[in-house]
Amino acid sequence: MNLLELSALNQRTVGFLTRRVFGNVIDGIERAPVDGRTLPVVDPATDLEIARAPDSAAADVDLAVRSARRAFEDSAWSRMRPADREAVLYRLSTLIEAHADELSALETLQSGKLQGIARMVDVGAGAEFVRYMAGWATKIEGQTMQPSIGFPPGVQYHSWTRREPVGVVAAIVPWNFPLAIALWKVAPALAAGCTVVLKPSPETPLTALRLAELALEAGLPPGALNVVCGGAEAGAALTTHPGVAKISFTGSTATGQHIARSAADALTRLTLELGGKSPLIVLADADVDKAAQGAAMGIFFNQGQVCTAGSRLLIHRSRFDAVVERLAHAAEGMKLGSGFDPSVQLGPLVSQRQMARVLACIDSARQEGATVLTGGRRHGSTGCFVQPTVLVDVNAGMRAVREEIFGPVVCAQPFDTVDEAVRLANDSPYGLAASIWSDDLSAVHRLIPRLEAGTVWVNCHNMLDNNLPLGGVKRSGVGKDLGRAAVESCTELKSVCMAV
Ligand code: NAD
Repeated sequence: MNLLELSALNQRTVGFLTRRVFGNVIDGIERAPVDGRTLPVVDPATDLEIARAPDSAAADVDLAVRSARRAFEDSAWSRMRPADREAVLYRLSTLIEAHADELSALETLQSGKLQGIARMVDVGAGAEFVRYMAGWATKIEGQTMQPSIGFPPGVQYHSWTRREPVGVVAAIVPWNFPLAIALWKVAPALAAGCTVVLKPSPETPLTALRLAELALEAGLPPGALNVVCGGAEAGAALTTHPGVAKISFTGSTATGQHIARSAADALTRLTLELGGKSPLIVLADADVDKAAQGAAMGIFFNQGQVCTAGSRLLIHRSRFDAVVERLAHAAEGMKLGSGFDPSVQLGPLVSQRQMARVLACIDSARQEGATVLTGGRRHGSTGCFVQPTVLVDVNAGMRAVREEIFGPVVCAQPFDTVDEAVRLANDSPYGLAASIWSDDLSAVHRLIPRLEAGTVWVNCHNMLDNNLPLGGVKRSGVGKDLGRAAVESCTELKSVCMAV
């Protein structure tokens, strides 16, 4: 660990991290895993172990789901006045903000991300999202209907719908925005009156564990939010547990497909936010400087470990060389290093495993004939740093163009007509997001409906809003996070028909 990291650690996180070996949080109590297994949490900037967290088994998951079930059925949470649920969530958002230094330092330590991003996105936007969802607790509503039932003659009916909390929500999240994505799952479920078992990624469990403590401090009843750490074994036990009413998963498409199959028997409700290979489309009229800057942000933000990263750059042939040259120039100027160094623009990837995956994808592109315009190699010999990489001379058959790389690697392709851009953009199993770069309003409006994507940005990329649902089509997922859609997905519509 370098001096900068040590001092940041001491100032912000020492209280929490002195424990070093963490347990799960079940029923409001820290509990060691039943069979004592733990996994290391590693700082990817230094390769040093910073803590250990449970490698939970089915027995730990069972304890957590039973606790959440009890909290749903017996505690006041699901029957609490919506205004009281709102107040607890509001207090939680305030506590997250009050602990912003500590939470963002933990996030940088365990995931490698830049402090500024941890502070602004994971913690800042995460706290705002909890506040936004606090507001929804008092606005969940059904509808009244005018029934046309004509039998028996003379009887009148009154009918309406109620939105009721579904029960225990299993929230399973990845490592790229550990706290923010956990909050995307936890806050709407709690606002709706559900209780939650949260399973963070084994790489990044620390902020989820701290969140469980802050939730208790905010007044959440014990058991309403349990955190069970571990990997695929714990995840599989959670998604197949009969006490779980809904699974809200964010992660890779392969794991999402596996979960969907295992949830099929019980017909457990599912929200799946999965992988992406999002195109960033630069039309002929686009401003090349803005487009190149947007492309750099679109792919290098958070080291490219963003589900909506603009990893396929489709550029009108008349603009191709200008945009790609500027993008390569921007990539070459980026400073790589620890996320705690404020002058650094690109931190490490999350793990050695992820770095090896990204480098293997770059190598496969080389072997298939792509040209590495810039980057393409590991940076340094300690930590998980990969140079920002621009690939050209690529085609839709290459692994690097088809597969989600989840690293700072962009594939740039030219197109001649808008029809060709649409064909290339949609030629992917994924459909998470896309962006269009142009000031030609008519062209933009005509293009938006033709793109197979859950979100389309215009002259921006990776911009999320609490109000705007986020989710994919095709193999990028089912259902939505964020917005009203997220809280409604934690409710079941009950229809009532009364003869009067
Ligand atoms: P992953 O699928 O490997 O793991 C995600 C989570 O699932 C982890 O907590 C993991 O422990 C758990 N898990 C693994 N196997 C499981 C199983 N059999 N049953 C239940 N749970 C299991 O994904 P990752 O590598 O952690 O994250 C990167 C992926 O997440 C990328 O594909 C990225 O696109 C995706 N992602 C999507 C969104 C979105 O909103 N669509 C947002 C962020 C990340």
